[in-house]
Amino acid sequence: MGEKATPRHSRAELTSWDHRHLWHPFTQMRQWLVEEPLVIARGEGCYLVDLEGRRYLDGVSSLWCNVHGHNRPELNTAVVRQLEEIAHSTLLGLTNMPAVVLAKKLIEIAPPGLTRVFYSDSGATAVEVGLKMAFQYWQLKGKPGKTKFASLVEAYHGDTLGAVSVGYSELFHRFYRPLLFECFRLPPPHLYRFHQGLSDKDAMAKAVVEAQNVLSRHRDDIAALVIEPLVQGAAGIWTQPLGYVRALREIAEENDILFIGDEVATGFGRTGRMFACEHDLISPDILCLAKGLSGGYLPLAATLTTEEIFSAFLAEYDEFKTFFHGHTYTGNPLACAAALANLELFETERVLERLEPKIVFLRERLGADLAPLAHVADVRQWGFMVGIELMRDPERRIPYHPTDEIGIRVTQEARARGVIIRPLGNVIVLVPPLSISRDELDLLIEATRASIQAVTERA
Ligand code: PMP
Repeated sequence: MGEKATPRHSRAELTSWDHRHLWHPFTQMRQWLVEEPLVIARGEGCYLVDLEGRRYLDGVSSLWCNVHGHNRPELNTAVVRQLEEIAHSTLLGLTNMPAVVLAKKLIEIAPPGLTRVFYSDSGATAVEVGLKMAFQYWQLKGKPGKTKFASLVEAYHGDTLGAVSVGYSELFHRFYRPLLFECFRLPPPHLYRFHQGLSDKDAMAKAVVEAQNVLSRHRDDIAALVIEPLVQGAAGIWTQPLGYVRALREIAEENDILFIGDEVATGFGRTGRMFACEHDLISPDILCLAKGLSGGYLPLAATLTTEEIFSAFLAEYDEFKTFFHGHTYTGNPLACAAALANLELFETERVLERLEPKIVFLRERLGADLAPLAHVADVRQWGFMVGIELMRDPERRIPYHPTDEIGIRVTQEARARGVIIRPLGNVIVLVPPLSISRDELDLLIEATRASIQAVTERA
């Protein structure tokens, strides 16, 4: 890479202004304000580079969105070329080339049956759009009683209020409870397996029966079931066995309930296939995408749906059946250009093909190096989404107490070893960019192992 750019502001200035003016997401600011922030200045491949030129392996793909590494010439060029044409124009009443071409490409690679693309800007808005589409659809179809939703226990679908209603977590969202709508919560197989020690097969059977009972009992009330297929990411990388997504899809269909797949995290190769739904050979009625859609470059989201749902909204202007939803930056040409370059790289670099051996390597190393550690209670993996659950006493299933801050301490330790990771409570999460090399995977695993060992020995 070229010369290190001279910082325009000193570290002292940036720290002081950050501490005085910024409010960071999902961050206890009291803790933040007594720490020296790590200021990221640049990116190079799978590395983040700080103001002083120190390099850190990006072990969580900058919050699960980076796909082909940072500062990729192909993506940079696509964005710059588009920038020289136009940065933004609206999709309300007009259209633009990158948005149109991307819609066509997305439909080509999406699970069969999906034909329409509705753009927005983040994972939460992709879900919000899906929920509203499903809700309005049933009213347009003459079934106004179908006004409720179903989702999985500890699901996470984003932080806007509709997304929080279906992704409620007591710890994060208790303050907003009066603002939220009702949702039926289905326990996923992980809960039975992890808490009752059942086999994968038995846990799945129990979860499917539970889903069948709730969905069939309330079939006249429920508009849609929304799930994160294959991996409940924010819950702590709770994995689902093959067959679960298919079973839920079938139960939803039998009961006239729309099936919304939230692939904001699992989409774009993260589980080893382009979309997690492909593992179970199913197509959702509505598919929510964001994060990796733009290669992790720019805020862009898409909600895909079928011609059946789309056509229910077609009517004369004055019938007002229109889908009245949109955001200023919907279909932003820069973000769509980045997404097109992202999809092109998947093809030209044969990303999914080359990912397979890396997934196997990761599985082997997790089994050999992480699983045997004294305080590792469970290692969960689907493709490049990994959760390592730590417990004070795995035998007797005694967790670490929140005041132990075990996850936070492990990630701090990893940072000292040149690796950026983020915990979800007591679960250490690894979600590397798909472009990571074998040597970099080695570093990620070794730094994680050493950090867990160092911290748990002291805890
Ligand atoms: N759905 C899922 C499954 C997610 O993992 C996330 C974010 N981690 C979201 C939705 C929300 O996406 P965003 O942060 O872009 O709003």
